[in-house]
Amino acid sequence: MTLPTKQWAQVVEKKGGTPIYKEIPVPTPGPDEILVKIRYTGVCHTDLHAMKGDWPLPLKLPLVGGHEGAGTVVAKGNLVTDEEFAIGDHAGIKWLNGSCMTCEFCRQAEFPLCPNAQLSGYTVDGTFQQYAIGKAALASKIPPNVALDAVAPILCAGLTVYKGLKESGARPGQTVAIVGAGGGLGSLAQQYAKAMGIRVIAIDGGDEKKAMCEKLGSEAYVDFIKSSDVVADVKAASPEGLGAHAVILLAVAEGPFQQAVGYVRSYGTIVAIGLPAGAFLKAPVFDTVVRMVNIRGSYVGNRQDGVEAIDFFARGLIHAPFKTASLKDLPKIFELMEQGKIAGRYVLDVPQ
Ligand code: NAD
Ligand code: ZN
Ligand code: ZN
Repeated sequence: MTLPTKQWAQVVEKKGGTPIYKEIPVPTPGPDEILVKIRYTGVCHTDLHAMKGDWPLPLKLPLVGGHEGAGTVVAKGNLVTDEEFAIGDHAGIKWLNGSCMTCEFCRQAEFPLCPNAQLSGYTVDGTFQQYAIGKAALASKIPPNVALDAVAPILCAGLTVYKGLKESGARPGQTVAIVGAGGGLGSLAQQYAKAMGIRVIAIDGGDEKKAMCEKLGSEAYVDFIKSSDVVADVKAASPEGLGAHAVILLAVAEGPFQQAVGYVRSYGTIVAIGLPAGAFLKAPVFDTVVRMVNIRGSYVGNRQDGVEAIDFFARGLIHAPFKTASLKDLPKIFELMEQGKIAGRYVLDVPQ
């Protein structure tokens, strides 16, 4: 197969600038890398944080964002065996593009914690382009019968919430409060929770998201815009009024990170996943101690978490709504995302 030398991409040229749709060179994979012709790519709020320069982590510039890219392997380095990836295989490029494989975290398969990790659409170019590169070791295999549009959001959103639910320690029959349930991660979190036998209280704002959450299987919806007391409403919706066994924080605002301790059940776990700019977690020491509250972070997942998250999807257990737009529409999608107007996920159709 002859590959083109040029391709279309969305390029952020300066921090805070909107992406510009332009032609750039097609990259060449290194010895341990694959080149994926992207068919669909999801838009994660992380891409918006990156563009705005929200985090204390240096960004590659100019940058091609995107880290939920699903497509076909079209080239690979000479160290990549056919068992890993053959030309024509379906593959996914995720947030974790590569890691050193030699540090203590990599040795223990905690790849996201690698201090020298490469991040797609952040420290290396990502999937808002027609051809994207990933280290074969960390790219995902996608079974041939799986739809590439619907699976794209699983590569970050699905994987992250599945891992977060596992980290929460919530058991089948217990109840989790999902904060930001109407967004991309939140919609998938409801479906993974349901598939894991965990009951859900959804927290987000507006009636479109309420209708979506009810459809996805949440037993209660607390509207943070309308509610005069979110803590009381979540507790009232929880079994015996004792609070949620776990809280999955996906919101892009600091408020809920301070509030969650108010409605988590005693001995329960708060899992912080959302990454609002400049935010802090704050909890009363007295409550945290005497109610034995566990507060922790969760960050994407390792290779096995990725395999499991895709497997749940491939077995037909995960159905989250997504809308499709074209790669060139990315700036418009970012605007809607900034305004909190997207129920579920947007997936970009990449020109072939
Ligand atoms: P999104 O914009 O699709 O969803 C965020 C949702 O939060 C929206 O529905 C919004 O209405 C809701 N929200 C805002 N304020 C709220 C409040 N006070 N109470 C309840 N809900 C509120 O974003 P997304 O793509 O789902 O990403 C969510 C966050 O997760 C982002 O900060 C993103 O960077 C982060 N993230 C973290 C990881 C990780 O590994 N930890 C991975 C992926 C994304
Ligand atoms: Zn993401
Ligand atoms: Zn490492």
